[in-house]
Amino acid sequence: MIARHPAINPDPTMHAIADDSLDALRKLLGPGGLRSDDVAGTLDPGITTGNLDAGVVAFPATVEEMRDIVRLCSARGIPMVPQGGRTGLAGGAASSPGQLIVSTARLNRILDLDPLAGTAVVEPGVTLGQLQQAAAEHGLSVGIDLAARDSATIGGMVSTNAGGIEAFRHGTTRQRVLGLQAVLPSGEVLDDLKRVTKANEGYDIKQLLIGAEGTLGIITAIALSLVPLQPGQGTALVACPGAAEAVALFRRLRNAPGPDLLAAEILWPDFARITAHGLGLDALVAFAPQESVFLLVEVAGDSAEQAAEHLEIHLAGAIEAGEAQDAVLAKNAEERRRMWLIREESWEADKAWPHGFWYDVSVPQGALDGYARALFARAGELDPAMKVFLFGHLGDGNMHLTVTTGREMPELHDAVDAAVFAGLAECGGSFSAEHGIGLEKRAHLARRGDPAKLALMRTIKQALDPLGIMNPGKVI
Ligand SMILES: Cc1cc2nc3c(=O)[nH]c(=O)nc-3n(C[C@H](O)[C@H](O)[C@H](O)COP(=O)(O)OP(=O)(O)OC[C@H]3O[C@@H](n4cnc5c(N)ncnc54)[C@H](O)[C@@H]3O)c2cc1C
Repeated sequence: MIARHPAINPDPTMHAIADDSLDALRKLLGPGGLRSDDVAGTLDPGITTGNLDAGVVAFPATVEEMRDIVRLCSARGIPMVPQGGRTGLAGGAASSPGQLIVSTARLNRILDLDPLAGTAVVEPGVTLGQLQQAAAEHGLSVGIDLAARDSATIGGMVSTNAGGIEAFRHGTTRQRVLGLQAVLPSGEVLDDLKRVTKANEGYDIKQLLIGAEGTLGIITAIALSLVPLQPGQGTALVACPGAAEAVALFRRLRNAPGPDLLAAEILWPDFARITAHGLGLDALVAFAPQESVFLLVEVAGDSAEQAAEHLEIHLAGAIEAGEAQDAVLAKNAEERRRMWLIREESWEADKAWPHGFWYDVSVPQGALDGYARALFARAGELDPAMKVFLFGHLGDGNMHLTVTTGREMPELHDAVDAAVFAGLAECGGSFSAEHGIGLEKRAHLARRGDPAKLALMRTIKQALDPLGIMNPGKVI
């Protein structure tokens, strides 16, 4: 995994948890339950290189062990950092010496999968890929998908309220969650592991933990609602004259009767072409005019033939209507895989053009074309050599972007922030779409968040975690 973020702490070997506390943790967790030896050298730090800087990792294997760790840490004032797959992109899992990393790697069982009810109950360390595979055996799908599927855990996804490719259809992770079990900072276990959609039993406290990035408790089990799997897929890469036309094409496919639109990922030309080039896939994008915006669409029907026919009919209609210029349909699984590589291997642009500032914003679809054009113009005014690599989930308007000149440019950070965030609040968008706040967007939240909401957030944090030991310094 490529580390994209700088180390938070310069000395990852320093252990500041007192020896007697480490001994108590070892006793509590048994052999293999606590690691304090060469953690940085033997575990994958994931996306944020500072994730393992605490140097001490607890691996509870049961909810009781999790509860006892939290109680011990609470009694001794040891701050905890929950970690799942360490794929988070906002630095929410970063740690520093003196803190205890609490990994869910051993809480990795699918506890129940009920094909009739279409529900699953899992421990937090189950990866999305594991659950996708188990669900598929019963003709079901998780209803959420993202490129980090083989490492991202369900606990991490719930804690960041992950979105991904299918959010426009099935909502974000929050909408998939039926029930939760979590250990609160006090050491109490919140047991709300419902498996039903309707349970109006007063304040829906579990909603506070969803998207809290580990600041209000550690999730130990999750009940999820699954969706039917539609195995017959058709995939196409479409060249559109611009984002407005891509939105029109999205709406055409979304509203069309027959196979469902499963994914609609938009890629502006610089991003698509540089990524394709880095992957040796220039030929895949060669069909499109140079300035075209690309739309990667996937539909799912009863069979691959039905899906392909559906795409052919509606893409022909889109070309006639001027929404698309040309399109290539994937003829087999390998061609489909290559199309998805151009979308999912987003690091290629960063490799070719390093030192960029990354953003994860939401823009209402109707405002997207105007937002993108204004952003490109503003970036060009800051520096004519500046590149904006723009791509994202068109279905819900969640855009990812990197702004870079290819050289280090700390002097431009504030100006680039202003260029990216300009107009977002006014059009009803968001400066923080799906990756969460973590460490990286704290300043943005403090500056751009609604004051009343921020005050309530602090009150809630204080009420649940008065000692401030649950993932301190993150979010607020
Ligand atoms: C290639 C790639 C593509 C991605 N694509 C998407 C995408 O399309 N959509 C999207 O939303 N995200 C995406 N992400 C981000 C990432 O996959 C998600 O944020 C993911 O949900 C985090 O899961 P994790 O297990 O890796 O959590 P971690 O990174 O380990 O932790 C993330 C946060 O959750 C907290 N946490 C973890 N487990 C628990 C728990 N059991 N209880 C309480 N808190 C916990 C941590 O403290 C931290 O704050 C992508 C990441 C990569 C690397």
